[in-house]
Amino acid sequence: MNIESSLKKRFGEKVYFSEKLSKYSWFNLGGPAEIFFRPDDVDQLSSFLKFFKEKNKKINILGAGSNTLIREGGVEGITIKLSSKFSYTKLLENNIILAGSATLQRVLSDFATKNSLTGFEFLSCIPGSVGGGIIMNSGCYNEDISKILFSIEVMDSYGNIKELTKDQIKFFYRGCNLDKNFLILSAKFKGSPSEKKYIEDKQSKLIQMKKESQPSQIKTCGSTFKNFNDKKAWELIKESNCEKMSIGNAKISEKHCNFFVNEGKATSRDIEELIEKVRKQVFKKTKINLELEIKVIGKNL
Ligand SMILES: Cc1cc2nc3c(=O)[nH]c(=O)nc-3n(C[C@H](O)[C@H](O)[C@H](O)COP(=O)(O)OP(=O)(O)OC[C@H]3O[C@@H](n4cnc5c(N)ncnc54)[C@H](O)[C@@H]3O)c2cc1C
Repeated sequence: MNIESSLKKRFGEKVYFSEKLSKYSWFNLGGPAEIFFRPDDVDQLSSFLKFFKEKNKKINILGAGSNTLIREGGVEGITIKLSSKFSYTKLLENNIILAGSATLQRVLSDFATKNSLTGFEFLSCIPGSVGGGIIMNSGCYNEDISKILFSIEVMDSYGNIKELTKDQIKFFYRGCNLDKNFLILSAKFKGSPSEKKYIEDKQSKLIQMKKESQPSQIKTCGSTFKNFNDKKAWELIKESNCEKMSIGNAKISEKHCNFFVNEGKATSRDIEELIEKVRKQVFKKTKINLELEIKVIGKNL
């Protein structure tokens, strides 16, 4: 029996072949995944990983795809996207919230508000999942997800589960040093009790600030480049006169020049070429080599 048939036999409609990934990225771009797996629970995930352990296939993990540019040539090996069964929230003792890693950060923020716990308000401004948020150490307005994190539960590539406390992981600006072979299953967060009205007001204020400073309803993955020390990436882009640059249908948002946009017919290559064009120009002007915040996966056509 070949791999396709044995996977179909064991995992049924949870496994797809040549699944187009464009619908799973906020850029709405990307070619097919060789093998795409959407597990409903940890047992399915664990037996899938065990099945592949000796087969030397590369494993990619997708969260909500709000920080990932996928190339047109598609993604070789396995792409795993946890199903909506991994999206849940639960209040535990001592002001701890347990969240499945597919839960949207916005949903986690709302759940904390509902339970009168503060510290999660900024997450209502970030579109990705809890898993993606932890990997990226997502943040805004001087907050980041590591500040409220308590522990995570991960699965390694052998299908084994372990729990890691926050102090076992090193977090930094837009990233962490979590082993690349770990898939985050869920996370616990610690909130502080506060008055619901105060939390709601804070949340609304941040959402409003976001609305005023950043575009919405567009095909983007948010900030393209990381800030450089104290210098904001958008300031460097502006200073270097890159704001009006474009490649085909890949444009720079008029509202926020660190947001690159697929205006409809752009290709991933257009976005990457625009990235390189801006990076070169910023370097020429400022001698600063901007580092990507977005992740780029897959191969070129
Ligand atoms: C309009 C807009 C505004 C944004 N504003 C902000 C902002 O203010 N602050 C900010 O920090 N970011 C912002 N972002 C970027 C993005 O939303 C965050 O980085 C978010 O945390 C990414 O989550 P995701 O689930 O979409 O991750 P993905 O893009 O799906 O993945 C990101 C990385 O996480 C890994 N990953 C995802 N899930 C798991 C898992 N379960 N286990 C292991 N690895 C995993 C992926 O392999 C990949 O390396 C914005 C994006 C958009 C589109």
